[in-house]
Amino acid sequence: MKIKNNYDAIIIGGGAAGLMCAATAGKRGRKVLVIEHNEKVGKKILISGGGRCNFTNLWVQPENFISQNEHFCKSALSRFNEQDFISLVEKYKIAYHEKTLGQLFCDGKSTEIVDLLLKECEDSGVEIKTNCKVEKLEKEELFTIKTNIGEFSCVSLIIATGGLSISKIGATDFGFRIAMQFGINIVECKPSLVPFTLNEKDLENYSGLAGVSVDSIVTCNGKTFRGNILFTHKGLSGPAILQISNYWNEGDEVKINMLPEYNLSDKIKEWKIEFPKALLMTPLSSILPKSVVNIFVHLIGFDKSLNQYNDNDIEKVCKIFQEWKIIPSGTEGFEKAEVTKGGVDTKELSSKTFESKKIKDLYFIGEIIDVTGWLGGYNFQWAWASGYCAGLYI
Ligand SMILES: Cc1cc2nc3c(=O)[nH]c(=O)nc-3n(C[C@H](O)[C@H](O)[C@H](O)COP(=O)(O)OP(=O)(O)OC[C@H]3O[C@@H](n4cnc5c(N)ncnc54)[C@H](O)[C@@H]3O)c2cc1C
Repeated sequence: MKIKNNYDAIIIGGGAAGLMCAATAGKRGRKVLVIEHNEKVGKKILISGGGRCNFTNLWVQPENFISQNEHFCKSALSRFNEQDFISLVEKYKIAYHEKTLGQLFCDGKSTEIVDLLLKECEDSGVEIKTNCKVEKLEKEELFTIKTNIGEFSCVSLIIATGGLSISKIGATDFGFRIAMQFGINIVECKPSLVPFTLNEKDLENYSGLAGVSVDSIVTCNGKTFRGNILFTHKGLSGPAILQISNYWNEGDEVKINMLPEYNLSDKIKEWKIEFPKALLMTPLSSILPKSVVNIFVHLIGFDKSLNQYNDNDIEKVCKIFQEWKIIPSGTEGFEKAEVTKGGVDTKELSSKTFESKKIKDLYFIGEIIDVTGWLGGYNFQWAWASGYCAGLYI
């Protein structure tokens, strides 16, 4: 097959980072091609934020990201910050709102964000080829990319194929295989922002609670998040659980306070005076879902009228509701994870240009890098920022 075309830059992966990078380089007059193996670009953007795309966060800080090198993300996040993306959203008159904790969502649909990126690419002359599958990739002076629709060559090659989560919408390990092909180190990849599974015995205990959510404070490995936890048929989910999953390793204990607003010990002592003959469950059900109270009180092993509670009993009740300790058996894996933790080792890349230190003109951007954000728009901000910064150099 003859080489069809030569580009300044080819970006493999038409997702958040790839499209941002393409538009930025295109604006600088670069001849850019985006290769996407799906039938359309930006599929993960489309399903994000429940279809409304939580496209950034008002309070993005380097502390909201996890990486073996906590400093790596700082440069890009400061050179393309949340306000820069908000300006772009406003340029396209996309209506948005803050849902909670600085999380910005479209009022309408996520398609608006994909359309914004496509328009930016179109205006800067970027070519996009969908249904394009890379079969072979080599580097001599230029990179040569053999695909199902022909061969292309380029000076700069940008890998923007994202993480491993949700293969049914196109996630692949392609970028990781390319990294390995070029001898680039990868930090072990794990599903993250992901629901926990519980062992059989725990599931039996809590099976009656599937679908119930409780505002809680969740703690693991010195990190704490406040938000809803959701009991599921397999274990635990909800925003506070997803957040803590970023910090959880196999075998770690998770501590949950299901009554963060209360000094439960004082409350029970008040109830003892007010309702001495009542069962603990009765007043407790006024501050927690009844199903949760039912199951947890029975787990303590006693259920008696309040006037029979001594200090020891009260301590046991407080422990189970405010220091509930649970060891998840695992997670629901990449098919339910929002992101991949780990990825291309930041030691291998320039934090300014995202170019590989070993292989000239090879770049990695977005989620494929070992930089993982919290839930709440942080992962898109990383995709925009890393894509933009690489786009300035390719
Ligand atoms: C259900 C869900 C909801 C989410 N919601 C949010 C949210 O609201 N806010 C937030 O900040 N983050 C959210 N995220 C995370 C966010 O979507 C990702 O972190 C972000 O999309 C990463 O951008 P990226 O460009 O690196 O990768 P992606 O956006 O995943 O793009 C990678 C692209 O590469 C393509 N590709 C893969 N392999 C190949 C190949 N071999 N050849 C060609 N193309 C290939 C893929 O098809 C895809 O189009 C969510 C994730 C999920 C799964």
